[in-house]
Amino acid sequence: MTSYVFITGGVVSSLGKGITSACLGAILEARGLTISMIKLDPYINVDPGTMSPFQHGEVFVTADGTETDLDLGHYERFVRTAKGGRHSNYTTGRIYESVIAKERRGDYLGATVQVIPHITDEIKQGVKKGAGDADICLVEIGGTVGDIESLPFLEAIRQMGVELGHDRVVYVHLTLVPYIPTSSEIKTKPTQHSVKELRSIGIQPDILVCRSEKPLPSDERRKIALFTNVQEKAVISAWDADDLYKIPAMMHEQGLDGIVTRQLGLDLPKADLHEWDAIVEAKQNPSAEVNVAMVGKYMDLKDSYISLVEALQHGGIHTRTRVRIHYIESKDIEDHGIERLRDMDGIVVPGGFGDRGIEGKIETVRFARENGIPYLGICLGMQVAVIEAARHLAGLDGAMSTEFDKETAHPVVALITEWQDQTGDTEERSEESDMGGTMRLGAQAVSLQDGSLAARSYGATEIEERHRHRYEVNNNYRDRLAAAGLVFSGLSVDDLVEMVELPGHPFFLASQFHPEFTSNPRDGHPLFKSFISAAREHRLGELPEAAEA
Ligand code: GLN
Repeated sequence: MTSYVFITGGVVSSLGKGITSACLGAILEARGLTISMIKLDPYINVDPGTMSPFQHGEVFVTADGTETDLDLGHYERFVRTAKGGRHSNYTTGRIYESVIAKERRGDYLGATVQVIPHITDEIKQGVKKGAGDADICLVEIGGTVGDIESLPFLEAIRQMGVELGHDRVVYVHLTLVPYIPTSSEIKTKPTQHSVKELRSIGIQPDILVCRSEKPLPSDERRKIALFTNVQEKAVISAWDADDLYKIPAMMHEQGLDGIVTRQLGLDLPKADLHEWDAIVEAKQNPSAEVNVAMVGKYMDLKDSYISLVEALQHGGIHTRTRVRIHYIESKDIEDHGIERLRDMDGIVVPGGFGDRGIEGKIETVRFARENGIPYLGICLGMQVAVIEAARHLAGLDGAMSTEFDKETAHPVVALITEWQDQTGDTEERSEESDMGGTMRLGAQAVSLQDGSLAARSYGATEIEERHRHRYEVNNNYRDRLAAAGLVFSGLSVDDLVEMVELPGHPFFLASQFHPEFTSNPRDGHPLFKSFISAAREHRLGELPEAAEA
């Protein structure tokens, strides 16, 4: 029987509700519980797949190929038993889409379809599906209490509290407790108002998590408890941490997991947080530092690459390396040249869509290849590596992906529909196939070539990784590229290129899939560990392993 913890937010957005939820999941899991995690998003888009990374940050892809909110990435990174999927992220749009489909089918038998009960029932059913058979399901409600859009979701979770009872449902409310420097005062009023708002719709929080710059003094804690009808010990202080991975311990030390498990009547062993302690310890005591350039498109918005940034850091944790990431707009490389890349110990070209800065990315690959700088290409980063090799190693002038140039003389990357009807003469490619490709999404099997850098990094030849792309390496060019030295070291079951590498280079490896979606801080990820190790070797001037082979 699954119990539920609902997490709402108040006062302002961007308080780190996703991280807080994930950390709560982590400390509950550390007591031996299985956890599932759900995000309810009040916006009307059916899923975040079509939303601009500028607005919404990264689209996180789950194993089953669902395009979800980036908070699901936090959940999977912090909680091992939380496996996100189709039922782990619901938006208003998706709920309405399904209710309207049912109405059209006549499922409601002529009833007037309304927010209560039809929309709220749909939400509750969705939550129950997402909960699966976990001991505890954590449900984070996006947005801020008081928003018009979130009302049906709040109503649904209120109803669940009544239906399941106080020993099966816990309400956690996250608020901001600001510090006003001019009067040197901590202000609890916004929290009081936010809880008042929540209570006015029938939800009395059991726990408050108060975000503040510094730990909350006990006077303020007492005051908040008094005004919000929450027990004093259940007013948890979440101050700004210099390291994300300190948050599970910060919450555990204030007894947060105990408050939840006691309310749910669970008698459990103490939390085992040694893995989190080890991460913090490793981060604080690096034995080397590397500079890694990320050359991409949304560089002033780090959230667009949050899983990748995290995965690089995980690589650092597991090799005791401080990873300094330098975010570089590929357009800047076009305008100002590759100078900025000179001091780098490693270069990453991440995934991306659209042609802005594409030549800068190709130049970046060339620089990494010619100067022996460790290169890791991801998705688009693999496609530009193939284009670069085609142009400069295989002599295929003007090689390009048809995503950026429909008329290219050498479509070395193209939609499958484009290159499968290709007869060798590029002019015969059909024009209509333009938007014909559908996205390849989710976890798929990849076979790695024995002895390749890819296989050595993974320590395996059969792996599974997640995908999110449309364009593929054109198999009609594989022979010519291979003759020029490019090794196709990873292939899909249906013979599509999944990984490429360049033997003789200290570390030149790129993947069509997104390894960053399966990296987590406790285990790290084989590709990122070996990339950061190569960057370390570059930095310390050691003879790279790959060059010896
Ligand atoms: N735009 C490329 C494609 O669709 C790469 C996608 C990506 O990097 N995620 O194939």
